[in-house]
Amino acid sequence: MQLEIPKKLQAFIEQAHLVATEVFRPISRKYDRAEHEYPVELDMLASVMDGMNEGDASGGAGAAQLKREKAASGGGVRNGNNMSTVLGLTELCWGDVGLALTIPRQGLGNAAIAAVANEEQSRRFKGRWAAMAITEPGAGSDSANIRTTAILDGDHYVLNGEKIFITAGGRADVVVVWATVDPAAGRAAIKSFVVEKGTPGMQLVRLDHKLGIRASDTATITFTDCRVPKENLLGSAEVDTKQGFGGVMQTFDNTRPVVAAMSLGVGRASLERTRELLRQRGILGGYERTLYGSTAAEAELYRMEADLEAARLLTLKAAWLADNGIPNSKEASMAKAKAGRVANHITLRCLQLCASVGATETELLEKWSRDSKILDIFEGTQQIQLLIIARRLLGKSSHELR
Ligand SMILES: Cc1cc2nc3c(=O)[nH]c(=O)nc-3n(C[C@H](O)[C@H](O)[C@H](O)COP(=O)(O)OP(=O)(O)OC[C@H]3O[C@@H](n4cnc5c(N)ncnc54)[C@H](O)[C@@H]3O)c2cc1C
Repeated sequence: MQLEIPKKLQAFIEQAHLVATEVFRPISRKYDRAEHEYPVELDMLASVMDGMNEGDASGGAGAAQLKREKAASGGGVRNGNNMSTVLGLTELCWGDVGLALTIPRQGLGNAAIAAVANEEQSRRFKGRWAAMAITEPGAGSDSANIRTTAILDGDHYVLNGEKIFITAGGRADVVVVWATVDPAAGRAAIKSFVVEKGTPGMQLVRLDHKLGIRASDTATITFTDCRVPKENLLGSAEVDTKQGFGGVMQTFDNTRPVVAAMSLGVGRASLERTRELLRQRGILGGYERTLYGSTAAEAELYRMEADLEAARLLTLKAAWLADNGIPNSKEASMAKAKAGRVANHITLRCLQLCASVGATETELLEKWSRDSKILDIFEGTQQIQLLIIARRLLGKSSHELR
């Protein structure tokens, strides 16, 4: 078993870390305060990332690169786009989670397009910034409950419905919208559609104010008789009750390890800064004391470091499986459940250990504790991940265990 980071990705990780240090950290507080203001500094970064993604055979750092690979033949193993994205985003989110979610052309919708688009669609939507719109007022965790409809009329699907909490919904060029093509046919009829910004009938209603990741915009968009060319349906148009939700759900197997990676980044940032601050106050040694001889603060930091490492290994495994075409739904949920919970815990406990310093705006610790909360909510809450893991372990369907 080889658990080291592949050498070929080392330089790439260092680049991502440099971006986090030099670009993200200096503007982190600014865009936390200036919620809804677009971070213009990211335009240049987006172009650099486009170049990196084009030129680097080993993968890129953004969601646009995420692909489900076919199983490697002849027992070969590879570290591809899923691994490089996980490693790159860990570093970027060490810098700032909200800014990482705002890099143009690297939205969660891009991951959906990369996962299921055909060749013609991949070409047509290349270079577009894509947001992802699943959630509705009556459908959050239970995405099978989606009420937005997409009814075929000639060469178009006509979309009607309301989507809420769309990350980058105000800034993206296109939105990948989940809608049912037949409300009577259940979850198998839920398909995803790429809707271009400005399509008549598509309206940006509002941007939400949030606890954390304030650099990232979160939008509500309505669709009223919004006509979308039928070539913009991603995946098969057929309503296959045997496959059920499988088609659209595939995206999550790639994106959940990525959200887990975001948790690793912000968790590590909190631990590192807390270590520095406690060391400055003489509370922390240099690992020379045993667990029994260490201070309470040291013991707590050791436990958090171990927890973060466990989350990291689960995340790498989930990404590695995706890169090698091996089913990873259970592992993707395990990684996200563990990493999300651990990041929430670490960021809050670090704030607590640094007490007044942790709670003030002179440090980023209080911001990280706010930013990390969403990582245990979107792309499926903690409880939903545990439910998915339980179903997989017990061999139960979503009807049998819910
Ligand atoms: C900042 C932000 C950004 C977001 N970005 C996006 C985006 O880009 N695209 C998008 O489509 N959505 C997005 N979301 C929505 C997010 O994915 C949902 O909030 C999430 O899926 C939970 O849905 P809900 O809020 O409706 O909560 P609910 O589903 O109503 O859940 C409420 C509580 O009940 C628990 N629960 C629900 N069902 C079960 C069950 N069966 N068993 C046990 N517990 C259960 C949940 O875990 C949760 O604790 C975003 C949300 C936020 C806040």
